[in-house]
Amino acid sequence: MDFQYSPRVKELQARLNAFMDEHVYPNEARFHAEIEENRKKGDAWVPTMVMEELKEKARAAGLWNLFLPESEHGAGLTNLEYAPLCEIMGRAGWAAEVFNCSAPDTGNMEVLARYGTPEQQEQWLKPLLEGKIRSCFAMTEPAVASSDATNIESRIELDGDHYVINGRKWWSSGAGDPRCKVFIFMGKSDPDNPNKHKQQSMIIVPRDTPGVRVVRHLPVLGFDDAPHGHAEIVFENVRVPASNMLLGEGCGFEIAQGRLGPGRIHHCMRLIGLAERALEKMCQRTMNRVAFGKPIAEQTVTLERIANARILIDQARFLVLNAAQMMDTVGNKAALKEIGMIKVAAPNMACQVIDWAIQAHGGGGMADEFLAHAYASARSLRLADGPDEVHRNQVGKLELAKYRQTPKPH
Ligand SMILES: Cc1cc2nc3c(=O)[nH]c(=O)nc-3n(C[C@H](O)[C@H](O)[C@H](O)COP(=O)(O)OP(=O)(O)OC[C@H]3O[C@@H](n4cnc5c(N)ncnc54)[C@H](O)[C@@H]3O)c2cc1C
Repeated sequence: MDFQYSPRVKELQARLNAFMDEHVYPNEARFHAEIEENRKKGDAWVPTMVMEELKEKARAAGLWNLFLPESEHGAGLTNLEYAPLCEIMGRAGWAAEVFNCSAPDTGNMEVLARYGTPEQQEQWLKPLLEGKIRSCFAMTEPAVASSDATNIESRIELDGDHYVINGRKWWSSGAGDPRCKVFIFMGKSDPDNPNKHKQQSMIIVPRDTPGVRVVRHLPVLGFDDAPHGHAEIVFENVRVPASNMLLGEGCGFEIAQGRLGPGRIHHCMRLIGLAERALEKMCQRTMNRVAFGKPIAEQTVTLERIANARILIDQARFLVLNAAQMMDTVGNKAALKEIGMIKVAAPNMACQVIDWAIQAHGGGGMADEFLAHAYASARSLRLADGPDEVHRNQVGKLELAKYRQTPKPH
């Protein structure tokens, strides 16, 4: 086992860190100010100029599409190589998009790269890879418990050479952005199929198709995440060409398995960067404030929390690297347990570390925008891509399966 990053990864880490220092951190205030400015003018749902400027710079610097393993469209990095780079991007909640590596586009690009026809790839994957458009993934529905995706009720029905789509989705991340031009929509094409994992399909829905209506934007603990957002969307008699079907009718679950693997782990990688930054803030703040005769950092409880934060972050990082390596070597399906483990461990770790950082800042912690937003996003990732409980169930069942295969453990 080699714990060293490869020379190529070290070189990319250095360039990515330099880019973050030169272009991302100094522009954080401008990014948020632009959104507030747009909000004051009456519309926060417009792209910021700073994002488009930085995307050009990142692309020119060759820091672009670093995700996408096993594809000629990406940078040729494995999941293991991408993990420490994604971690760096995660240090600022808005940075991943600068490098065209943000959710849900990465997951959707993986779907199109892996399952799309040449025509679908030309129409949608190409502009996504160029960062010219954005996308959303519409699976979750308000009316049913969507953590069990067999419950999904939306319909995809064949009518001549078109499919007709009806349903209501919510938490469709990214749909608030006018650059979001395409949805990957999951619904039932064969609700009576006795195999409940063959009832679902995924289909491409261009955003401007008649019958697609964004009803409202859902806040995440009060943050609307404009201009990205999380939307509730009604699909009413939406007609798309039959050629928009992905992979084939009944393949929705198969695609979901492929899609959620890397996408899930990207969130985990970014959470490690976010938690690292929260810990840095915690250390800097508490070293410089004195209470009851000594720096807050040296009060035993703070010192313990700093130590525990370091332990939790490093544990999560090693679990992420292990899951990434499993995905590279045995595939997403065989790495199900490791993906489930990190999906539970990373957001819980980040919530805990950020919570300690907030506490260490005193009242200031409640007003610190970075910490507040970091907490909201880490907390939401205990639900997005499946709640903790569902992943724990899966990990638990896989653990028990070992004993079913070997009934008499020694
Ligand atoms: C910020 C954010 C962004 C999101 N982005 C997207 C997106 O882009 N696209 C999309 O389609 N969806 C998205 N989601 C939705 C997310 O994937 C769902 O919220 C999640 O899968 C849970 O589904 P649900 O909300 O219907 O909860 P339900 O299925 O109703 O579950 C509710 C609760 O029941 C409990 N529970 C469920 N199953 C079990 C079990 N087996 N054992 C024990 N307890 C259980 C859990 O505590 C769970 O939280 C996003 C959510 C958030 C918060």
